[in-house]
Amino acid sequence: MSAISAPIRLGLAGISHETNTFSVVPADLAWFADEGILRGDEIRATYGTSLTDVAGFLAAEEAFGVVVEPLLFTYANPSGTITAAAFETIVGEIVERIRAGGPWDGVLLALHGAAVSEVYPDADAEVVRRVRAAVGPDVPIGMTNDMHANLSPQMVAGTTVTTVYRTNPHLDAREVALECAGLIVRTIKGEVRPVQALEQIPAALEIVRQQTAVSPMREICADLDAVRGRPGILTASVAEGYPWSDVEKMGMAFLAVADGDEAAARDAARWMAGRAWERRAEFVGRVPKADEALRYADQAAAAAATGEGAPATEAAAPATEAAAPATEAAAAGPSGPVVLMDVGDNIGGGGPGDSTILLEAAQRLGIRGFLCILFDPAAVRACDAAGVGGTIALDVGAHTDGRHGRPVRVTGRVRTLTDGHFEDPEPTHGGFRFFEAGRTAVLDTTNDATIILTTRLVAPISLAQLTAAGVDPRSLRIIAAKGVVSPRPAYERVASEIVLVDTPGVTANDLAGFHYRHRRRPLFPLEPEAVYPVPGAAAPAV
Ligand SMILES: [Zn+2]
Repeated sequence: MSAISAPIRLGLAGISHETNTFSVVPADLAWFADEGILRGDEIRATYGTSLTDVAGFLAAEEAFGVVVEPLLFTYANPSGTITAAAFETIVGEIVERIRAGGPWDGVLLALHGAAVSEVYPDADAEVVRRVRAAVGPDVPIGMTNDMHANLSPQMVAGTTVTTVYRTNPHLDAREVALECAGLIVRTIKGEVRPVQALEQIPAALEIVRQQTAVSPMREICADLDAVRGRPGILTASVAEGYPWSDVEKMGMAFLAVADGDEAAARDAARWMAGRAWERRAEFVGRVPKADEALRYADQAAAAAATGEGAPATEAAAPATEAAAPATEAAAAGPSGPVVLMDVGDNIGGGGPGDSTILLEAAQRLGIRGFLCILFDPAAVRACDAAGVGGTIALDVGAHTDGRHGRPVRVTGRVRTLTDGHFEDPEPTHGGFRFFEAGRTAVLDTTNDATIILTTRLVAPISLAQLTAAGVDPRSLRIIAAKGVVSPRPAYERVASEIVLVDTPGVTANDLAGFHYRHRRRPLFPLEPEAVYPVPGAAAPAV
């Protein structure tokens, strides 16, 4: 070290993709470019004021007096497998920029943790491997992941510090990334010597059980907090896993990072894993199907309108297992719409965003005051042609594949046509702030449904999506949102109740309906005989 030391320089890069290997929509270069392959100050401009992981890495400059140089970052909507060409182009440029800008004191990687490419089933590990090869063994690398990461020993082994969001819905992305950067800075300064231990359990956590405020995650996160409070533990993580990636690393994992003490890290990771494993019976949840959920919601909305609270009928039974709807109703007040979560077409999990399962059922059952949002560029063009105030009959939805219902014939009047830009300064899932839904049409149908049609695929994580299109969410009786956990921060603000719905699709809750070829076996709950610790398993690789 020279007497006058230059400020610590950290390179920032990332490719963030949650890969649903059952989706027919490939993540090709256009898929990433459509969301933005951002370089240098474009990254600052897009994410600097957000609450995302990238924002947390950038905040390290002010928090720790270091220089963070954003190199390349791309986030794309969850979808099918990343094409070989997209992976090589993007990761090739990341590595090139890291090499060209070096030497670095450290590197910060914002990854998802559940990325799969055509060539690399563990695409995140391949990113880490290449970056490690570029900077050499001695440069600290910090990596932050989404809580849906399928963490693998290979991913962790290439990093110095790995972190994972600790909330689902994800409201702490910025905070966790900043923590990761802080540990990297302390490592560079020689203040700490991180050692990591990863413990995978042979289990997949169903999506309807992933909300961190509700059991079993509430207790698992309490264990995580306890570990983080142990002396000598620098940080720790629980990765819930992403069950629709048919790859070997798919499943739940536990990570502890200790200061120089390998045994402490290993003990902490194993303790969390063992405690979670004991709760595995709670990893499975059953929620009502479309007709049952809609009938229940219709009654609940009627009761809410008359101020009677939730209906005391048999229909209330299926929702109770969903996620304690009674307590949520109290939080939001009794008068708002009932929000149905379209579990099988979860846009934030790789759903196509055009499932008509709930719309078709709502029409068939004569449900009034129903709203859904469909990704349907052709329908938007038809509405554009009709113009605001125009009446139109058309088929909507179900254009991506044959697994999310059939196109539904509707007749209606075009209420608004908008550009689809919207901004949400409130905390959103993942911390996103700026949204582009593309040309957007609102259609009021003759049978009292409101359909928001979009040109681009956007997860329903902001109410501004409705208000920017001229729709007041409080004016509806029932809103269908294509997500499970991620819409909650937004929709809980208006919902009288939230009901999860067991709809079919590429993000369906019941994993037994998927044909897996590459995942580990046995894996709970698909193979209930799975045991942990796994017999004959080697000691943790990292
Ligand atoms: Zn996630």
